[in-house]
Amino acid sequence: MTTIDDLPPLRAVIATHDLSAKKSLGQNFLLDLNLTAKIARQAGDLTGCDVLEVGPGPGGLTRGLLAEGARRVLAVEKDPRCMAPLAEIAARYPGRLQVINADALAIDPTRYLTPPIRVVANLPYNVGTELLVRWLTPDHWPPFWDSLTLMFQKEVAERIIAQPGGKAYGRLAILAQWRTDPKVVMSLPPEAFTPAPKVHSAVVHLTRRPAPLYPADAATLSRVVAMAFNQRRKMLRSSLKGLAPDVEGLIRAAGLDPTTRAEQVGLEGFCALARLVKG
Ligand code: SAM
Repeated sequence: MTTIDDLPPLRAVIATHDLSAKKSLGQNFLLDLNLTAKIARQAGDLTGCDVLEVGPGPGGLTRGLLAEGARRVLAVEKDPRCMAPLAEIAARYPGRLQVINADALAIDPTRYLTPPIRVVANLPYNVGTELLVRWLTPDHWPPFWDSLTLMFQKEVAERIIAQPGGKAYGRLAILAQWRTDPKVVMSLPPEAFTPAPKVHSAVVHLTRRPAPLYPADAATLSRVVAMAFNQRRKMLRSSLKGLAPDVEGLIRAAGLDPTTRAEQVGLEGFCALARLVKG
């Protein structure tokens, strides 16, 4: 395996530090440094950017980000066993890698970063969707980041870019497309990871929009969409019952047919509904 720096190959790092993969932490490592550098490149030009990386593990993607010229990387990793190998990378790139041993769901990364900021991560599957929704739904826009370049299970990637009418269309598609322009930029087979997961994976690059496509309050939109898709086969007038006293009137006022199902409703319709609910 060719290497992108003069640090030991990742297989050796894993053996030296006894980093047997833990399923509970969603550990499926990328050991090919050419592949991790390619993923880093999907985030665009990193020079002059701070990068937030969640779940660096033994540091394959971290090394890719640094080799591709990221100004600084903040790597947040829950597994204390990864601290020693990550410290070796930090020593190789003085002043450019800060590692925090913490649960990414429990910290505020903005305290450690200077804009422009890009988020790049091979996310642990168990927390990936939760982090994405959090990054997409701050009260105010634009958010702290310019772009998100994230590895997901292929099915989750399909849900992010899905259009109305299909089975994959739902809350993730609406929240992602409302405020960002998401694109699937790479597909990876299970064998790209060690250990190999059961599913295929894909890298999604989400560029933030300067403003959301249609005005709406993020928390209200999120609530309306969650309710509508919780019973996706039902008509809106039933799935949204309880949202407001005259829910059928609201649906009509939003320009929608109360007998429509959630998966037929586009972004504009959901945003109109969220504005009326909030109003
Ligand atoms: N980035 C590495 C790579 O590409 O080889 C590892 C990716 S592995 C799919 C996910 C990583 O996220 C693991 O190292 C795991 O320990 C870490 N992790 C899991 N849950 C986490 C959490 N809540 N906060 C931070 N890191 C977490």
